[in-house]
Amino acid sequence: MPTAKHIGYRPTWAEINLNNLEHNFLRIKERISCGTKILVTVKADAYGHGLIPTSEKLESCGVDFLGVASIDEGIALRKAGIKSPILVLGLILKDHLSPLFEYDLTISVCDEELSAALNNKARLLRKKAKVHIKVDTGMGRIGILHYDAHKLVRKIYGFKHIKVEGIFTHFAFADINKKFTFYQIDLFDALIQRLAAEGIAIPLVHAANSMGILNYRHSHFNMVRPGLVIYGLYPKGNLKISLKPVLSLKTKVIFVKNVPAGCGISYGHEYVTPRPTRVVTLPIGYGDGYPRNLSNKAPVLIGGKRFRICGRICMDQIMVDVGKAAVKIGDEAVLIGAQGKNMITTEELADLSKTIPYEIVCGLGSRIPRVSVF
Ligand SMILES: *Cc1c(COP(=O)(O)O)cnc(C)c1O
Repeated sequence: MPTAKHIGYRPTWAEINLNNLEHNFLRIKERISCGTKILVTVKADAYGHGLIPTSEKLESCGVDFLGVASIDEGIALRKAGIKSPILVLGLILKDHLSPLFEYDLTISVCDEELSAALNNKARLLRKKAKVHIKVDTGMGRIGILHYDAHKLVRKIYGFKHIKVEGIFTHFAFADINKKFTFYQIDLFDALIQRLAAEGIAIPLVHAANSMGILNYRHSHFNMVRPGLVIYGLYPKGNLKISLKPVLSLKTKVIFVKNVPAGCGISYGHEYVTPRPTRVVTLPIGYGDGYPRNLSNKAPVLIGGKRFRICGRICMDQIMVDVGKAAVKIGDEAVLIGAQGKNMITTEELADLSKTIPYEIVCGLGSRIPRVSVF
């Protein structure tokens, strides 16, 4: 149980189970061939799990690459002493090239202009810049369109101060549309084959996110890019892999009140007590990224039992009708995770909130301290 030293004076925190992180990493390793490398995406504060402790654990597990969204996330990793290769998956502006050299970051490129600027910068610094070329095979965001990619790769190969270390693409549908995913894999594979036939063998070739890894073996190439599954979350149900959730969200009962029947609870009185009952207040709300559309819906575990949030979720507080249960101030409440025999998963909350598990964990705010447990 974390003390005020760990979490401050508000008893609301997220536990990050680093053993479970390792468990998931090993399960994914079992799913790929032994020569295949792993880049774990730790963008968005490691999907809300805490960038630094998560990355340190992954490094100790032998991760090959870490994937971030921005230069700033890469710098934060280097400042924390992370030595693993870091790929910035998002695009950067050509005004922002210096930190790549200062912090040894690899970037994604998908046009000639940025590549040329990078080549110039590297020449001036007498260094080599490392890039992975991003190819759009059907995602429609950053990336050179697949039919223009061959030309661009050849062009970038001509830049003396750039080392093309990788080439990659990203799936638009990995979950539901098998046909389109196969089509993307084929387009990408054809490009790689064509380059190889011309003597251009790019060292790292990658495409697979979590769903790609689990559902499309021939999408692994020689590196995979899991995110969600490493955090023990399932992109959808019925996947034959045993993952352990890494994040639990906990708080403590801060107030207990016996109220009569007909008592309106929270803004707008969307909940009115149907009988005399006991209503508890918990110190967490949408100001912590706990989705407001879970009002009157989300389950909460207290004393090993499942209850439901009653009334609207406030910025800093939520209420729970616990009936006759003997709940007292200071009791632990679990919003995500296990308590006794009961369990609330991120996936369950995501369904209730009509979103995806990614958004639930990434949305948890900076007001919630992340506490590593082992
Ligand atoms: C975030 C991200 C991933 C990881 O996706 P998951 O679905 O979380 O496995 C892989 N590749 C790229 C380019 C990403 O941005």
